Amino acid sequence: MFEIRNITRKNIIKMKPYSSARNEYNGKAKIWLDANENPNKSNSNRYPDPLQLDLKMKLAQLKKVNPDQIFIGNGSDEAIDLLFRAFCEPQLDRAFIFPPTYGMYKVYADINNIEIVSLPLQDDFSLPTINVIKSQIQSTGLLFVCAPNNPTGTMVNKQKLKKLANLFYGLIVVDEAYIDFSEEESAISLLDEIPNLVVLQTFSKAWGMAGMRVGMAFANEEIIAILNKIKPPYNINSQSQKEVLSALNNPKMVQNQIKIIKKERAKLIKELNLLKVVIQIFPSEANFILVKFKNANRVYKHLLNNGIVVRNRCSEIKETLRITIGSPLENQVLLNVLKKY
Ligand SMILES: *Cc1c(COP(=O)(O)O)cnc(C)c1O
Repeated sequence: MFEIRNITRKNIIKMKPYSSARNEYNGKAKIWLDANENPNKSNSNRYPDPLQLDLKMKLAQLKKVNPDQIFIGNGSDEAIDLLFRAFCEPQLDRAFIFPPTYGMYKVYADINNIEIVSLPLQDDFSLPTINVIKSQIQSTGLLFVCAPNNPTGTMVNKQKLKKLANLFYGLIVVDEAYIDFSEEESAISLLDEIPNLVVLQTFSKAWGMAGMRVGMAFANEEIIAILNKIKPPYNINSQSQKEVLSALNNPKMVQNQIKIIKKERAKLIKELNLLKVVIQIFPSEANFILVKFKNANRVYKHLLNNGIVVRNRCSEIKETLRITIGSPLENQVLLNVLKKY
């Protein structure tokens, strides 16, 4: 049976976490002389809440989980790093990825001295078959499923996730950075069913707050407790906590922006398909599209010469550029520039 204890590094189980001033006392007081702060009032003279409780209460309500099933990180990238540090024994455990996918999984694996095992996506960018995965996978470590996947835009269905969960006893990390642009519902609904599931989301993409550096991990209470145990004490600054909470209290604006971005995505796909230089556009459930061009490197340079930067993915997927859906005006300029190519 799956037990968190069995997959947690022994040094992490044993260690005593740092206890910050605000950890030791966080009730009400008239005078705070416990954290060596400057007493002169400003927006930021006090340390932030180390456990971001206001934010978690709101998120718990929205995502239909308990507050102690939520970890908040300095971007979801911080959660990825902490997962390696807590649940992968260097040079022993492995991390499994389905490339082409988000580059940071391998970077954090390398930093943490964890071997990466790559199980490439099929030609249509769907996950390898269960039999292929079964033959390659070991029982511990981390397995990353990016859904929708960056840079392909492909979604992974829940049935497949359940099957994966049946053959892997490490942690299955489903990275949902782009879930708000997809028609599928989040894997958060599977948390009760799959005890070794971690779902990552972020405020950096659909929520339009990349500069705030706030990401989320949802998992069972024991996994979250371990992430909290090893995180830097004040990992989310006060301003970020405040602005993210205020965005969650007024979701209308963002919901409207997402609607426009999805409409623009459809329009851009339609218009790009009319261009001779475009060979193929892969279906996307994210706020970007992966496009195969006749000579993508030349198209890339042409765009750069016209002041437009897209992401060149040729080294991973032949003749492709990843294009973020911009504002209606930006997308129109992109199309005009490509028409002149
Ligand atoms: C952008 C991105 C992230 C990073 O999110 P932050 O919260 O900004 O750290 C994570 N995963 C994927 C797949 C991404 O594309």
